[in-house]
Amino acid sequence: MEHCAHCFTPLPDLKHRFCARCRRGLPLTVARAFAFDPQAPLLALCACAPEELAGFVAYQWVQLDWPIPDAILSLPDTASFRLSKAVSHLLCRPWIEVREIKSPGLELLIVDAISPFDHIRRGVRPVLETSPKSIYQLSLAPYGFRNYLD
Ligand SMILES: [Zn+2]
Repeated sequence: MEHCAHCFTPLPDLKHRFCARCRRGLPLTVARAFAFDPQAPLLALCACAPEELAGFVAYQWVQLDWPIPDAILSLPDTASFRLSKAVSHLLCRPWIEVREIKSPGLELLIVDAISPFDHIRRGVRPVLETSPKSIYQLSLAPYGFRNYLD
């Protein structure tokens, strides 16, 4: 399945590189992808043992051929925190908090579990203020069960 080049929403056809929402205006300031489509077993596992899903996120990172991050950060929620720490361990890259970023120009990978755009925006904003070279954001799955093809 093809995905939007900006937010990674599945595309209904190959006519456009971007989904309908992103063609109206890019909702995020960073490149985004996710490892799974949202399914009930995934959501249950994510709630109780997000670390067990870190290998899938790391595998998706390899598939995307994104740059090796200088550091991995989390969005501010418990599942994202636990998942991002496990991904950091698998990729052998340091896990840091935003306040620990001391130098500009870093390649940063933000890992989150399942977050709506507003949560991502709030989490990315303080990271942008550290003047990174680039930010990539990898989610376990898109948010919720709603029709995200709108
Ligand atoms: Zn999109």
